[in-house]
Amino acid sequence: METIIVIGAGAAGLMTAYELSKNNKKVIVLEATERLGGRIYTYTNNAFSEPVELGAEFIHGKLPLTLNLLKQADIKYYVVKGKMFHIEKGQFKKGQDNSVHWAELMKRMKELKHDIPLSDFLQQFFSDDKYESLRESVKHFAEGFDVADISKVSTCSLYKEWSEENDEQYRIDGGYQQLISFLESECKKNGCIIYNNCCVKKITWSKNEVNIITMCSRYFKSNRVVITVPLSVLQLDKNDISYIEFTPAMDNYLEASKNIGFGTVIKILLEFNEAFWQHEKKNISFLFTGEKIPTWWTQFPKNNCILTGWMAGAKAFEFKDASDEDLLESALDSLSAAFAESTSVLKNKLLAHKIINWTNAQNIYGAYSYETPQSANARKLLTQPLEQTIFFAGEALDYGVMIGTVEAALESGKQAALKIIKG
Ligand SMILES: Cc1cc2nc3c(=O)[nH]c(=O)nc-3n(C[C@H](O)[C@H](O)[C@H](O)COP(=O)(O)OP(=O)(O)OC[C@H]3O[C@@H](n4cnc5c(N)ncnc54)[C@H](O)[C@@H]3O)c2cc1C
Repeated sequence: METIIVIGAGAAGLMTAYELSKNNKKVIVLEATERLGGRIYTYTNNAFSEPVELGAEFIHGKLPLTLNLLKQADIKYYVVKGKMFHIEKGQFKKGQDNSVHWAELMKRMKELKHDIPLSDFLQQFFSDDKYESLRESVKHFAEGFDVADISKVSTCSLYKEWSEENDEQYRIDGGYQQLISFLESECKKNGCIIYNNCCVKKITWSKNEVNIITMCSRYFKSNRVVITVPLSVLQLDKNDISYIEFTPAMDNYLEASKNIGFGTVIKILLEFNEAFWQHEKKNISFLFTGEKIPTWWTQFPKNNCILTGWMAGAKAFEFKDASDEDLLESALDSLSAAFAESTSVLKNKLLAHKIINWTNAQNIYGAYSYETPQSANARKLLTQPLEQTIFFAGEALDYGVMIGTVEAALESGKQAALKIIKG
């Protein structure tokens, strides 16, 4: 019986293993770290009154694969409610800070015939001084939601995303990790073996034969391999400690991976002894500020005292070496400015905090992917199996519109498994 090795135990890797093992394939999963889930990371610690999400948190709409798995696993989820606010001259204003020129921007984006990076697009059509606040607001959007570098991100993909109707969003009661635990237990029931702390270093391959060596010198042999490591790992330089060496070399695949964007995030979880933001507005869901940590959200409609801070894109790369103490101080200063409350008062109200700087997360090195004008070609190559022996999957390689999400990771993992099953 043939053996298939899956590298990486995030949503994509576990979904691949689940589909393959369900179809009576012999599967081994190799995960670099001690934890399963990758960028799904629900943090359970007594300091917080409930589990908090350090990685993925929302289900962005009625996403079939995610919702079906949740149903199968009997995991509950709820609709995110509340209102978005932004702060303008010290006042809380409803909605996001859309510049008056937003409609003009969308029209120009729609008319664009050849895709170009967002910064080039702004330079070409919106360089006049009167558009200064539009440029700022567009930059915040692209960096905040898409964790994107504006000098690389595709203007056409942003247009597609921004012009879509906003679907309802959901949160999983008790955390996303339950989805990972469900997939893990189903895989194990189907006979799949999962090894933690097995960081793959070297892959030597020929048709239907794969030899794998890990960092700690363990050897594995299989007929096929599905590689679901984050795009950021494929993009590493040869001299990086986490670089995966292929023999024979696959430089064209690794080079292609660099044509898809990969952004980063610093996420800050804070629990206070009271929901002081409700003194300002009872129903805040998201709050957009001009502060150092610009974006904040509550757990509304859940009635708790947890706030999440979000710093993404180029700014988050800039703060990659900042200490947790400095980031906490910046977070409290940002809240202090937004809510006109002193930092020391907020400090006294603070019960728990956890900061995760995804740029430095071992074996992940960032948050999620975004489209560039070259992504489509890169994806076409990367999803092409080599000799029906080497397969790639992961959130960055999905063809749907949900690139960068858990749904994309699950779908891409499922598609890789189907390619093997169908032969
Ligand atoms: C802060 C943050 C917030 C997010 N918010 C959302 C959200 O609200 N909604 C949403 O849908 N998505 C969100 N995402 C994106 C989502 O988490 C990812 O798209 C998805 O989880 C990626 O799954 P994956 O399996 O492709 O990759 P990963 O989860 O990264 O899994 C890859 C695995 O490979 C392992 N690995 C790496 N190198 C090796 C090696 N050499 N050998 C063996 N194993 C290796 C890694 O340790 C990791 O476990 C968020 C991500 C972040 C970081």
